[in-house]
Amino acid sequence: MAHEEAAKTGAGMKLVIRNIGVLLSGDLQRPILDADTVVVKDGRIAAIGREKDVDTEGAVRMIDANGTTLAPGLIDSHVHPVAGDWTPRQNQIGWIDSCLHGGVTTMISAGEVHMPGRPKDVVGVKAMAITAQRAFAALRPSGVKVLAGAPVIEHGMVEEDFRSLAEAGVRLLGEVGLGSVKDGPTARQMVAWARKHGMQSTIHTGGPSIPGSSLIDKDVVLAADADVIGHINGGHTALPDAQIRSLCEESPRALEIVHNGNERAALFTLRTAKELKQLHRVILGTDAPAGSGVQPLGILRVIAALSSVGEIPAEVVFCFATGNTARMRNLDSGLMEVGRAADFVFMDAAQHSAGKTLLESVRLGDLPGIGMVMIDGEVKSERSRNTPPATRVPKVVK
Ligand SMILES: [Zn+2]
Repeated sequence: MAHEEAAKTGAGMKLVIRNIGVLLSGDLQRPILDADTVVVKDGRIAAIGREKDVDTEGAVRMIDANGTTLAPGLIDSHVHPVAGDWTPRQNQIGWIDSCLHGGVTTMISAGEVHMPGRPKDVVGVKAMAITAQRAFAALRPSGVKVLAGAPVIEHGMVEEDFRSLAEAGVRLLGEVGLGSVKDGPTARQMVAWARKHGMQSTIHTGGPSIPGSSLIDKDVVLAADADVIGHINGGHTALPDAQIRSLCEESPRALEIVHNGNERAALFTLRTAKELKQLHRVILGTDAPAGSGVQPLGILRVIAALSSVGEIPAEVVFCFATGNTARMRNLDSGLMEVGRAADFVFMDAAQHSAGKTLLESVRLGDLPGIGMVMIDGEVKSERSRNTPPATRVPKVVK
């Protein structure tokens, strides 16, 4: 059985997706591609174009998209995983599988901070980060790629700790500010050590999330200079507008808008980024699981909110959750480009949406209906059990 699966997906496996209604690229420069067919080989995009112009011969698998919209799989830039598909935060199992049904194919840990009894001594912090990195590298819950192993910095860490973490395969720093380091100078030093050794960092922005967490204001965020300004719209308590504007103007780093944040501050960030011509810096996350629970449709809900209330074309907002994040995070997915991982979500307007097309329905604030999700060219779910039902769904022809 395992051997047969390997034969279907291994070297030479060719998949053709035809009859695509709208092909979203994930690229802000050109969010909609003039193409109706995507060819996948060995789990990666091999060709994109009109059916008559691409080589579809010898396909082992064929999917008729049935006129639906195909987009890169959604990337959640901010999650807090702990162990497989269980979260102790709200004591739920299956939350990652539920997010797959919301179109998410990649999640990035902002720290495994909900681990019961989370160690705070340096050796313990490092051991937990390496364990999380190893565990999620070995196990993809329901196929979802979870990039984890994101230590939260604590006082007492020295450059050697970052060097040894990087050498052990740790590539991320969890939210700066959730540990004992909350001052600009120390955060800046540790973020710089992390960067020097190839680790990407995120910082908590705004008021405390839960008892025990604390305020990180714009001066600390600017001083720390982490790669991602985590939940710039607060997690959930947002900074004053003037401080959010300063972060947009004075920092070149990613502006992460999350579902578990302040919606008005999210719109303020979006409008400021647009005014400053900085939309390429906007990326999306849920910040789940958290006090607000888990949000299987969190990324879709942020997309619909930013497009409808924020008055931005839906195809542009989809880029925030795909190509923008992929570029910012150096991922091999998130863009409809030859050579990228074949992580896809098939969507259509939800049944009885006032919008006639998927993009129009999102612009009107409705959630898309998901008909299928693929990861590395493999079907991981068909009609979503969580979104409103899609009007049309793709069909597996062979
Ligand atoms: Zn946070």
